[in-house]
Amino acid sequence: MLNIILFGPPGAGKGTQSAKLIEKYNLTHLSTGDVFRFNIKNETDLGVLAKSFIDKGELVPDEVTNDMVADFLDQNFNDNGFIFDGYPRTIQQADALAKMLDDKNTTISLMVALEVEEDELVKRLLERGKTSGRADDQSEDTIRNRFRVYQEETAPLAMHYSDLGKYRGVHGMGSVDEIFVRLSHCLDIVSETGE
Ligand code: ADP
Repeated sequence: MLNIILFGPPGAGKGTQSAKLIEKYNLTHLSTGDVFRFNIKNETDLGVLAKSFIDKGELVPDEVTNDMVADFLDQNFNDNGFIFDGYPRTIQQADALAKMLDDKNTTISLMVALEVEEDELVKRLLERGKTSGRADDQSEDTIRNRFRVYQEETAPLAMHYSDLGKYRGVHGMGSVDEIFVRLSHCLDIVSETGE
């Protein structure tokens, strides 16, 4: 199986690249942000709870997020593998994911991180906010808070996977296709060597 964590700050292009990668490698896309937004739209209990955190630019609590991912994996298991987009975002989530995959006799193959400068990210998110209808993309304060949370809670995951020998950084500026080529290269290496 090819289990890839597509990593990077808000606005780095994870959603765009995930869509291309799942097609090329026959993987299943799990975007925790998308699953939360689906629940918000349908006004489920999970959606109401998640919205109260997301609109402030905060993380949804680990336990809630981990339970949601466990359900997703049970219901959508794909023998080819997964792209995890926006998950894990904390060390606790990384530990939970390791256990979930271990229970299914598999493991994370690689974390690939899109590296983009913060000024470019703010620009992209404000631009997306004009058309996406996402409340969390419309205020610069909320966006800055998401970066703060990212730096404090999520960025340390890079070191976590690096210590496991499972981390590759990819330059995230350039055209969508250029970045896709860089990511594909990383996935090709890991799928060939089974590293
Ligand atoms: P982005 O990466 O552009 O901020 P996402 O769609 O990945 O967008 O996430 C939107 C919001 O959903 C996050 O700011 C956070 O509040 C919540 N969220 C998404 N994934 C997680 C997660 N793994 N743990 C906790 N909260 C999450």
